[in-house]
Amino acid sequence: MATAAKADEQTAVFNNVVCPFCATLCDDLTVHVRGNQVVKVNGCNLSKGVFMNAHTEWATPRVDGKRVDYDDAVDEAARILARSVNPLIFGLAATDVEAQKKCIELADLIGANLDNASSV
Ligand code: SF4
Repeated sequence: MATAAKADEQTAVFNNVVCPFCATLCDDLTVHVRGNQVVKVNGCNLSKGVFMNAHTEWATPRVDGKRVDYDDAVDEAARILARSVNPLIFGLAATDVEAQKKCIELADLIGANLDNASSV
């Protein structure tokens, strides 16, 4: 179980953090957080790259490079998937269980292949 402490006034330190970025699930990371930003982590290079560049804001959806709202983005994604001959749903390494379940349901619905980063 992760435990938290204060390194200084601005930095919280979380010990025994589970890394979700590959199937190894290392559970001994120490993550230093200042504000909403990870400032230090002792994981591997993949883990460091993802933790240190984590975004805490919602992504801005775009279609053809133009900002759109989420409903329009979902409509466009549905149009693309409906035209797809051999769709692939890939990734999911840092995706929570509920989102993974939705991806599996979607793959079943549209006959997509489903794969994750451990196969590359
Ligand atoms: S990405 Fe690195 S730190 Fe994270 S679980 Fe995999 S090997 Fe461990």
